[in-house]
Amino acid sequence: MSLFTRRNFIGLSLTALPAWSQEKQTELRYLQPADAGYEAARRPFNSTIQLKPALIACCRTEADVVAAVKHAKEAGMPVAVKSGGHGFIGDSLNDGGLVVELSGMANRLLEAGSFRFTAGPGLKLRDCYSWLLKKGRLLPAGSCGGVGLAGLTLGGGYGLFAREFGLTCDHLLQVRMVDGNGEIHDSRDEPELLWACRGGGNGNFGVVTSFTFETRPAPPTLSTRKFTAKGLDAGGLAKHLERWFEIASALPEPCFSAVILNWNQATVLLTSTKSAEGSSFVAATKALHQAGFASKGSLTKPLADSLKRYEGEPGPLPFDNVSAGFYRGWDELKPAVAGICATVRGTPGLIFQVNTLGGAIARESESAYPHRAFGFLGELQAYWEKGTMPAKLAAGHATVRQALADAGIRNHYRNYPDSRLSNWGDAYFGNGYARLQALKARLDPDDRIRHAQSVRLPGA
Ligand SMILES: Cc1cc2nc3c(=O)[nH]c(=O)nc-3n(C[C@H](O)[C@H](O)[C@H](O)COP(=O)(O)OP(=O)(O)OC[C@H]3O[C@@H](n4cnc5c(N)ncnc54)[C@H](O)[C@@H]3O)c2cc1C
Repeated sequence: MSLFTRRNFIGLSLTALPAWSQEKQTELRYLQPADAGYEAARRPFNSTIQLKPALIACCRTEADVVAAVKHAKEAGMPVAVKSGGHGFIGDSLNDGGLVVELSGMANRLLEAGSFRFTAGPGLKLRDCYSWLLKKGRLLPAGSCGGVGLAGLTLGGGYGLFAREFGLTCDHLLQVRMVDGNGEIHDSRDEPELLWACRGGGNGNFGVVTSFTFETRPAPPTLSTRKFTAKGLDAGGLAKHLERWFEIASALPEPCFSAVILNWNQATVLLTSTKSAEGSSFVAATKALHQAGFASKGSLTKPLADSLKRYEGEPGPLPFDNVSAGFYRGWDELKPAVAGICATVRGTPGLIFQVNTLGGAIARESESAYPHRAFGFLGELQAYWEKGTMPAKLAAGHATVRQALADAGIRNHYRNYPDSRLSNWGDAYFGNGYARLQALKARLDPDDRIRHAQSVRLPGA
């Protein structure tokens, strides 16, 4: 969650999969680099990614996906899978291979009675929220509007509502997937697929062609308040960060908070699906003021209006963002804090952010997402104007990553990948990595679907 950067079918019963996901193709359109529309289909949100696939298969149906994967198999080409294109490190593209491009599969269906929601992989968060909110329903997800629901869910998916309701992947009930041989699977017949797609499914062994989720009654409003402390030196940044950890640790589940350290400023976002007049929101506000943060007041707005404020920039833009690790609390981050704060203070453009997790996320769930014990997630962000990352910013980025590694921070969020991590399998998936490898061997024995940090075949 980057906070500081720049046909309705309700009433249909869904005992079987919706007709739209079983359509027979095919209007499959392949694009080559010289074709009109190629660059628009290739373009990732991160403008520094220059990977150039030989062929982009613009899919509109599940049958298109089957045809594209079988074509790649016959041609001996690797396959990458692209939905929203917001992956940090370009793992939805490749050089010289085939990309299955899914933005044309943004269908959606809400089942009356059970309010189960089925979405195509091309659906973006912005459209997911606005479509469901009009029906009084919510699928808890991230906040930036352009992010793909597919990629977000397959890696976990947290946001303003995750502490109250759980991760996006915790709401996943069923998937359909085309494997590396072009065969179709349904998680109703293979529960292992559902386990894997709850946090361990990003471009690893198949192309997910439909997602079915449970939804929640939408809270009517969201209350938000922003706090800032300016003109801080490195020690001041550290002091404000420590106080935020104490205050954030006491928040009830309807509340989310993030702290953002940026040059000489610490900023806190506090949100709640309950009233800003509620005792917890008021107590947190008072504690933040006592800690030296200033604020102009709270805003309580209808949920749809509030979410628009956090939709983020349309992009593409140059950035280098990575997971800064999971922590149970202040004590785990503490050994790295002096180094982080000194570096952020001396490196304009470098942002260190910590988000609250915990709450419903911490409860048991059959999923490949392994980080439930951690109440906090850090993100290191670097933004610049154009071209490659300026040397000073790159050096600051490296210093903070080293400080985190030296402090023993080893668990990282799959959806905030870092291409420099050597032990990424353990860092993203923990003890579940071997189980994901076994699924890989069954669904994609030729390693057709792959990227730099895709789950490897056992023994590879
Ligand atoms: C501006 C911004 C804001 C963000 N905010 C949040 C946030 O609030 N919360 C959060 O949890 N994360 C957030 N993220 C991270 C985001 O969850 C990941 O980048 C996510 O992987 C993006 O999914 P996508 O479909 O847009 O990207 P893509 O680049 O299309 O895909 C990302 C990965 O998922 C795989 N994938 C995509 N679709 C499929 C499919 N149908 N089947 C199999 N594999 C697939 C791709 O192969 C690739 O490995 C944010 C990212 C950005 C850039």
